[in-house]
Amino acid sequence: MLTIDTLGDLRGKRVLVRSDLNVPLDEDGAISDDGRVRASVPTLRRLIEAGARVIVCAHLGRPKGVPDEAFSLAPVAHRLGELLGIPVALAQDTVGNSARSVVAALEDGQVAVLENLRFDPGETAKDDAERGAFADQLASLADCYVSDGFGVVHRKQASVYDLAQRLPHAAGGLVQAEVEVLRRLTEDPQHPYAVVLGGAKVSDKLEVIANLLQTADRLLIGGGMVFTFLAAQGHEVGKSLLERDQIDTVKGYLDLARERGVEIVLPTDIVAATEFSADADHEVVSAEAIPADRIGLDIGPDSAEAFAAALTDTRTVFWNGPMGAFEMAPFAAGTKAVAQALAEVTAGGALTVVGGGDSAAAVRQLGFDDDQFGHISTGGGASLEYLEGKQLPGLTVLEG
Ligand code: ADP
Ligand code: MG
Repeated sequence: MLTIDTLGDLRGKRVLVRSDLNVPLDEDGAISDDGRVRASVPTLRRLIEAGARVIVCAHLGRPKGVPDEAFSLAPVAHRLGELLGIPVALAQDTVGNSARSVVAALEDGQVAVLENLRFDPGETAKDDAERGAFADQLASLADCYVSDGFGVVHRKQASVYDLAQRLPHAAGGLVQAEVEVLRRLTEDPQHPYAVVLGGAKVSDKLEVIANLLQTADRLLIGGGMVFTFLAAQGHEVGKSLLERDQIDTVKGYLDLARERGVEIVLPTDIVAATEFSADADHEVVSAEAIPADRIGLDIGPDSAEAFAAALTDTRTVFWNGPMGAFEMAPFAAGTKAVAQALAEVTAGGALTVVGGGDSAAAVRQLGFDDDQFGHISTGGGASLEYLEGKQLPGLTVLEG
């Protein structure tokens, strides 16, 4: 992977950096977890110190290819300025007059942010020509390109993939660091190696399991994924999250795990609520008997204890996806127990990796410090696809 050093002397050069600044916002539009902004700072600082004219591009949320005030990068640019300790200009558009004049006004060591890339349909277009045309416009703003948005390297998008084909390019420090940790998980991890999976993007995450069954010794399943597993074992799951069309796939994984001697740890009890709401009535029920009118929103206390116990002797842990709907206090205990167990094995010298936007937000919201874990990845989908052994378009283009 090409590193920033290979770009040579950057003084006075316009460097376009693709960062991942896709932070969660609360109802008032304020940043509720600035982890991704903070993670993008070291690479930017390095470029500032090298005297580059730094142009940051990024996306926020899922605007529909048109400007939408609700998805403006304004709060993010503001936060970035606070963290860098210097003023950060924000262009009012992505590649238009405002972007051009903001870039033209940059002096050595200064930073500007372009508006949300997804305000332009070219950013995510499936059509190569449409995406390429947008990449051409972005490329015309800069002399070289640094890819540092690890959370998007699995996307074949203009600012991730096509830009690298148009400008001298390199991987930023964050992308390098993320890949280095994930490489340690795929090549020769220390055993016992446990993987904890949860969250809500069930079908995306099921795909990674086949690959993990080749390297991991133990697979702990919580969060919304659990119910497809319970259904595969013939249990009633009530109104819980269920991917009915994945039940056969999951049965296959259970068989494969048995063949390979991989232990699959499933919850034995579930916190079941009347509805998806913080003040819904809820009770702990057996995982094998979730009432038909209930929705499972967390693993139960026995399961939380069993999950923690299944992690105590591990040397390597990868965790993606909260164990429950942790944003609501009554359903956060399972996630907290897993985070605590990870923090303890980390203190004992194990390599632990927490991946996924919501998982990272969860550990911080529950009061843990980033340094209680080996590595908090900024990319959920990207890290899973890496572990699946897939070629990630945004990494392939940085090879040469
Ligand atoms: P990540 O961003 O870490 O990859 P996901 O996006 O897949 O994780 O899932 C995070 C979401 O999953 C959280 O918002 C959480 O509320 C939700 N979740 C966890 N468990 C459940 C459950 N049992 N039912 C519904 N949603 C759940
Ligand atoms: Mg998420």
